[in-house]
Amino acid sequence: MIISVASGKGGTGKTLVATSLALSLRDRDRVQLLDCDVEEPNDHVFLKPALTRSEIVSVPVPKVDEERCTYCGKCAEVCAYNAIAVMKQKVLVFPELCHGCGACGYFCPEKAISEEAKEIGAVESGYSNGVGFVHGRLDIGEAMAPPIIRQVKEHASHEGTVIIDVSPGTSCPVVEAVKDSDFCLLVTEPTPFGLNDLVLAVETLRQLNIPCGIVLNRAGVGDGKVEEYCQKENIPILLTIPLNTEIASSYSRGIPLVEGLPQWKVSFLGLSDKIREIVNGRSSDTER
Ligand code: SF4
Ligand code: SF4
Repeated sequence: MIISVASGKGGTGKTLVATSLALSLRDRDRVQLLDCDVEEPNDHVFLKPALTRSEIVSVPVPKVDEERCTYCGKCAEVCAYNAIAVMKQKVLVFPELCHGCGACGYFCPEKAISEEAKEIGAVESGYSNGVGFVHGRLDIGEAMAPPIIRQVKEHASHEGTVIIDVSPGTSCPVVEAVKDSDFCLLVTEPTPFGLNDLVLAVETLRQLNIPCGIVLNRAGVGDGKVEEYCQKENIPILLTIPLNTEIASSYSRGIPLVEGLPQWKVSFLGLSDKIREIVNGRSSDTER
């Protein structure tokens, strides 16, 4: 089963939930944590894995042979990302904008475009205390997170539980990370900002047809609008974590919640059971 852990906005406690869920399940199931928040991966700070393997991630970017080029402008015309510009006697490629789609090379009438690999980051994998661990890192200044996320997800096991930590928001990297999940946990807080971003995240998941449930973190800090919204939209609140100085203190010291306060392990196992029930119920509905 693949469970993604996402949030409409940053700083809601997504890492706390993803790491604690993985650590709670390790005695019961084969479990793997994939940190797909490649612009700012931080699950390793809590899991402290021994990383044993590293792979470079690169994307193909065009290289123009100026001997063959007639400066016809076709490549710039077909590029949907403005990543190539044709001047009077020069073709400029902007690798940071290039999505590696290959359209410019395909349509070049002179076959003057070849591809060269450009390094954008790395994927590292290893093991931490019974949890298989993989994370991606996007190089500073690079904008193309999806190829790294895809490469992280290639490591997903077909057995046991795979937990995917998704970057905050609702943009392309989020869609790339959550797609193919059996369930998505949305971590939010009971504030107007939390609600606003939660609504956007729920809309995105509905488009992708992925069932979701809520972890309400820092309960007690705001108002009851998130609960009202969840009730109205029939979205289950599967776990509530109160605003609590002990929890905040263990988190700020890089200690996972279920290790700093082991009594929380039961709650996270209960969370996993509820997710399994929803996913199994949904597949039997589809079979009928
Ligand atoms: S399409 Fe090919 S020939 Fe035309 S400007 Fe681009 S690289 Fe040059
Ligand atoms: S590979 Fe695609 S995105 Fe990159 S420059 Fe060519 S057409 Fe544009």
